[in-house]
Amino acid sequence: MASHKLFLLPGDGIGPEVMGEVKKVITWFNSRDIAQFETEQGLVGGAAHDAHGQAISDADMDRAQASDAVILGAVGGPKWDKVPYDKRPEAGLLRLRKDMVLYANLRPAIVYPALADASSLKRELVEGLDMLIVRELTGGVYFGQPKEITDLGNGQKRAIDTQVYDSYEIDRIARVAFEIARTRRNQVCSMEKHNVMKSGVLWKEVVTATHKAGFLDVALSHMLADAGGMQLVRNPKQFDVIVTDNLFGDILSDVAAMLTGSLGMLPSASLGAVDEKTGRRKALYEPVHGSAPDIAGKGLANPIAMIASFAMALKYSFGMGEWADKIDAAIAATLARGLRTGDIMQPGMQQVGTVEMGDAVLAELEALA
Ligand code: NAD
Repeated sequence: MASHKLFLLPGDGIGPEVMGEVKKVITWFNSRDIAQFETEQGLVGGAAHDAHGQAISDADMDRAQASDAVILGAVGGPKWDKVPYDKRPEAGLLRLRKDMVLYANLRPAIVYPALADASSLKRELVEGLDMLIVRELTGGVYFGQPKEITDLGNGQKRAIDTQVYDSYEIDRIARVAFEIARTRRNQVCSMEKHNVMKSGVLWKEVVTATHKAGFLDVALSHMLADAGGMQLVRNPKQFDVIVTDNLFGDILSDVAAMLTGSLGMLPSASLGAVDEKTGRRKALYEPVHGSAPDIAGKGLANPIAMIASFAMALKYSFGMGEWADKIDAAIAATLARGLRTGDIMQPGMQQVGTVEMGDAVLAELEALA
């Protein structure tokens, strides 16, 4: 049986607590001989800063690069608020994304039937929602140069950010979206603003050409990103895969996230290029939520986003989509039994802590295996 190398970076705040529940799932897979995961653990964020004065050490960066997948908890917290900008906890995460060239950010928005009432939209609009936003993560306006504030000398200042995309960046993210759509409902909606932005004109042109060159079996549609935002809250179930740039993806994925009710439920993946030797993409999996300092160390954190992030690793890094689906089914069954952590608590349900929730998901997985 092939062995998979996982590099675990629990990070700060609730990171180590939710990672603890993933470790149990990993041990379960190993003990049942379903897969063989080798794990190594490192430091990122404030924890790394305290140990080495850097948000991630070079040695841990090397271990991340050598792994088949990085599984990350969360970084940050008030303890490091005064740390210099380049050493702040988030710098560790940014370095991982940059050095591993993780250009495709995958953010699923799934509404479990038991939680449909937690959404800000009506149950019938979100029940059964299962969509994925594929956001370009390493280009666009967050990185384009020039990026500066200049003093105009007349009491005014001018701020400039530059939205810039080369065609190869659009082509490679479009490919990720089309390939993933093939494993889902086979539909991609590309969002940009070609009506007012040149980068939108090129985006649409390249996505259309990539589609034509190799993905004609996938249904492709285009939507202006502002209309897309409107459609996401009007009728989100019309979407399967949305592909969009860094800025629009940042906003639209947060809108989609809130359709599902809680930050503690949301996983994500960031994928890079395929490694020619292993045939695997560079990959990092992490929950969308932060380190939740307000509840850290109290055993209250919801581990579902972290466990679902590991399920994404099974699907996108290890060809174990069936097991990823079983983990999702185990989460759905646990919720259907009425177990809730504080963040998703509803009247009449049973409130549990991090460890009990992790144990319950594992018990359901065992029952489904
Ligand atoms: P947050 O996501 O940490 O918390 C927001 C709210 O959601 C809090 O009330 C928190 O208790 C709750 N929450 C979040 N995850 C939860 C979970 N799994 N279970 C139960 N409740 C949960 O965002 P924030 O408070 O804005 O940021 C806190 C720190 O995390 C900051 O230092 C911030 O920079 C950092 N942060 C890190 C990441 C990351 O590591 N990717 C992302 C966002 C924020």
